[in-house]
Amino acid sequence: MIELNGVTKSYGDFDVLKNCSTKVDRGEIVVICGPSGSGKSTLIKCVNGLEPFDSGSIKVHGIEVGDPKTDLTDLRSRVGMVFQNFELFPHLSVIENIKLAQKIVLGRSDNVSDNKAKQLLDRVGLADQARKYPSQLSGGQQQRVAIARALAMDPIAMLFDEPTSALDPEMISEVLDVMTDLAKEGMTMMVVTHEMGFARRVATRVVFIDQGEIVEDRPSDDFFSGHHNQRTDAFLSKIL
Ligand code: ADP
Ligand code: MG
Repeated sequence: MIELNGVTKSYGDFDVLKNCSTKVDRGEIVVICGPSGSGKSTLIKCVNGLEPFDSGSIKVHGIEVGDPKTDLTDLRSRVGMVFQNFELFPHLSVIENIKLAQKIVLGRSDNVSDNKAKQLLDRVGLADQARKYPSQLSGGQQQRVAIARALAMDPIAMLFDEPTSALDPEMISEVLDVMTDLAKEGMTMMVVTHEMGFARRVATRVVFIDQGEIVEDRPSDDFFSGHHNQRTDAFLSKIL
């Protein structure tokens, strides 16, 4: 579903991604972890064309992301993205947040997008919050709205960039629970997170990235069975 081959990117003479290769098969949950500044956000943004890259290739569902002929708007409408800071539209109610792109990008009617939004709000446990504005919700609720908004586009895959790192501890699990359900339903997911409990329970593979380099890319069972590269151990010892 997602395939990166030798992806390289620099900002001037700073190499943010160095020859990164990995793949995510249909239905796989790949967790990406690594120190702050290692290139995780850059990598995941390259996947849906939010960041250009210099060389190598990224294919999503057979579409070459780096090909200038690729319609990036179309790609982004099919690959859901959830950010650390929710990025909801502050001036729109919860339900309007979930309806907007359905109407504008997919051309769905008000009625169809409304039904879809209600169904998704119910799914993320927020059926009673539809008329509120983002600022009236907790961080955990806002993030669940952001997930519902991404799902409303019927994405072929979902990308998450530290979806729980801006949340108070008691709200982390309500977001991880929604993500876990999504994984169980077979969604293909790439998740940047330091929630190693989630990784252990849900991930099929774990990728460790350090200084722009993919240092480890292993099945989850194997990753959590103990033997690591020194750089991975150094990182894990700080977060676990
Ligand atoms: P992570 O998500 O792992 O914390 P990022 O992908 O956000 O890392 O950033 C990786 C590195 O690239 C950091 O050192 C960051 O400072 C640098 N970087 C990110 N965006 C830019 C930019 N637009 N210009 C220059 N350097 C950048
Ligand atoms: Mg980041």
